[in-house]
Amino acid sequence: MIVAMQERATEEQIQHITERMMELGFKVHRTTGAVQTILAGVGTPIVFDVKDFQVMDGVAEAYRISSPYKLAGRGFRPEGTVITFKNGVTVGNSEAVVMAGPCSVENREQIFTAAEQVKAAGAKFLRGGAFKPRSSPYSFQGLGLEGLKLLREVGDATGLLIISEVMEISQIELMMPYVDVFQVGARNMQNFNLLRELGLVRKPVLLKRGIAATIEELLLSAEYILSGGNYEVMLCERGIRTFETYTRNTMDISAIPVLKKLSHLPVLGDPSHGVGLRDKVPAMARAAIAAGADGLLIEVHPNPEKAFSDGAQTLFPEQFTKLMQELRLIASAVGRSIA
Ligand code: PEP
Ligand code: MN
Repeated sequence: MIVAMQERATEEQIQHITERMMELGFKVHRTTGAVQTILAGVGTPIVFDVKDFQVMDGVAEAYRISSPYKLAGRGFRPEGTVITFKNGVTVGNSEAVVMAGPCSVENREQIFTAAEQVKAAGAKFLRGGAFKPRSSPYSFQGLGLEGLKLLREVGDATGLLIISEVMEISQIELMMPYVDVFQVGARNMQNFNLLRELGLVRKPVLLKRGIAATIEELLLSAEYILSGGNYEVMLCERGIRTFETYTRNTMDISAIPVLKKLSHLPVLGDPSHGVGLRDKVPAMARAAIAAGADGLLIEVHPNPEKAFSDGAQTLFPEQFTKLMQELRLIASAVGRSIA
């Protein structure tokens, strides 16, 4: 932390700040220039609020220079985290992965058809919600356990890995045998009790950025899971709420390289929720891969016009197949490949 004192700060004020910094565990280096005194605090106390210093008497400015997340920060594993799945698929290395499928599991025929279609196009994971966080209580809420069973069955039949959303602590144990990745949705990014519990399981978690969450808040949420001992966390940019109304959300492509720099965790992009409009999804998917995403989460349905949820942002199977071909070209242009 750096504290720049005001020009007229008294020696008493400087001493007071210095003592407070030392109490927190900082080693304090003092530089007194012609006009002002600078206090540089070295050391890494995790828990302190720089605002406490900003409002103290005699302080002109105070900055935090170390990150508040230790385990999620790039420094913890400079080489990056690679998550390896049972069939040898990896996330976080030079091969980008694609997770695709419908927003919700609707019935047997739908999920089996979707699985065959996304697999044929090159997806390695099948997505599909069994528990759905819907804005309206009257909307389709998901098939629950029946949906999970269908996902497992189709996963075993096709070799696709399964990712599905967990909405509350009581669902974790229930879902354990059926999914390969727990998805934490945007609305639950700051459900800290859920995150803590997911820190105790030994199964990968895909953590979506909250609807109005900053990048730092996303990383602090990941820290909750990591601090429980579960290091297999993937981050996902899925669009944030801005003043723009043309698109459902504003896909923050810049979050991808920012997260890659700040953290060692794999970063995925979700262009479907990112824009919410089918015809814009391929462009955002290509942009995410070009920006360095380690993978994508994309909604694909055998017949999106009849989808129970998120139809307008869901790709037709043919669109997805074409997109996968384009993604392979983009990936190779940026030194990657698509697994
Ligand atoms: C989803 O993936 O279908 C979903 C509900 O996503 P989000 O949490 O990003 O809205
Ligand atoms: Mn959806």
